Amino acid sequence: MAVRPVLTWGDPRLKKQSEDVGEWTDALERLVEDMFETALAEEGVGLAAPQVGVNLNLAVIDVSAGEDPAQKLVLINPEILDTEGTQVGPEGCLSIPGIRESLERPRRVRLRNRAKDGSWHELEGEDFMARAMCHEIDHLRGRLFVEYFGPVKRQLLQRRYQKMARTS
Ligand SMILES: [Zn+2]
Repeated sequence: MAVRPVLTWGDPRLKKQSEDVGEWTDALERLVEDMFETALAEEGVGLAAPQVGVNLNLAVIDVSAGEDPAQKLVLINPEILDTEGTQVGPEGCLSIPGIRESLERPRRVRLRNRAKDGSWHELEGEDFMARAMCHEIDHLRGRLFVEYFGPVKRQLLQRRYQKMARTS
């Protein structure tokens, strides 16, 4: 396993629509292991393939932060079926280190997700998991969480982020 470099805000590769995962391969298995490793090393709960420069509908979530292997979730070609309610809470992104902002998300989401063997199943997430699922699926559509904010706030965040990136 290896920690892969994470692309950061401003990189055009983060804005691309990703493509569906095809047949599951050893290379994809290694990629997923690396993504879990990278998320853990960077103290994130999730990571999407585009963040490591791979343009695929693939993401990992581990809300246990490496504590419980049973909690490791791999999203393959996920699609949101429906959502319920709202929640407002802080959100951050490994591609925008140092920025955490409050954002409204659905409180519950129901997904259609593919398994490695090609079969499909439904998944539900609530609260923090629902937030993580929405955040990662947004990455697959080329969307960063800061893009939910209006232009004024987004510019403010961008300046704050660039200042931090320069000094770190
Ligand atoms: Zn992110």
